[in-house]
Amino acid sequence: MNVTETPVLVIGAGPCGLMLANELGRRGVAALVVDQESGVATAPQANATQARSMEHYRRLGFAHEIRALGMPGDHPTDVAYFTTYAGHELARAEFPPSSQAATRARTRAYLERRGIAASRAAKPR
Ligand SMILES: Cc1cc2nc3c(=O)[nH]c(=O)nc-3n(C[C@H](O)[C@H](O)[C@H](O)COP(=O)(O)OP(=O)(O)OC[C@H]3O[C@@H](n4cnc5c(N)ncnc54)[C@H](O)[C@@H]3O)c2cc1C
Repeated sequence: MNVTETPVLVIGAGPCGLMLANELGRRGVAALVVDQESGVATAPQANATQARSMEHYRRLGFAHEIRALGMPGDHPTDVAYFTTYAGHELARAEFPPSSQAATRARTRAYLERRGIAASRAAKPR
């Protein structure tokens, strides 16, 4: 039996385990990450990366790599509801593509072009 010694053993190479090992490594703490699966997941387990996660990726220096893996900036991000996978569309919520959602100002302009009022410093009674 092979015996491997490591200061920290991280079990699970999901986002939590990988981020933990990343943070330990940045602080000079060696770690070994093990996972029961031999490869990466074959089905998607995240189709949207939130802004806070992107902030961490930017801090760690690989946000541009994550962004490059995403959909093209003009790819629609609408949410649509269908009777079946290839059936009739029942309803659709339109959202701006990522290139237009990059800043609040752009999002605001997107809404204005569609005649939707967006006002800050206003509180409905
Ligand atoms: C279909 C789907 C869509 C999703 N979409 C989004 C999304 O759009 N945005 C988003 O932010 N999140 C999304 N999520 C959630 C996101 O995938 C999870 O929150 C995230 O993967 C959790 O990370 P984790 O590291 O805690 O766990 P996991 O990703 O589950 O990783 C745990 C790892 O530990 C391993 N493991 C478990 N037990 C053992 C053991 N005893 N020994 C060795 N290895 C072990 C597993 O094989 C696995 O690789 C989605 C999830 C699913 C399923």
